[in-house]
Amino acid sequence: MEKTKNIAPHVMACKRCEGKGRIFYLDQGGAPLSAKCPVCNGSGRVNTRIEPFVPGEDDTELMTM
Ligand SMILES: [Zn+2]
Repeated sequence: MEKTKNIAPHVMACKRCEGKGRIFYLDQGGAPLSAKCPVCNGSGRVNTRIEPFVPGEDDTELMTM
């Protein structure tokens, strides 16, 4: 039995944050900070156009871990 899905955009893990959705860095004082990844907009995934993965719009196909 096969599932047929609408696989519109190809979704892949964000390379900037390695799929975490957040980026980690040190501020000027050396304190660890994290922020939402600007590349994937916090979803940890991007489509092949390197645009943010939009949950609810681009999640027709979940990324395979
Ligand atoms: Zn990212």
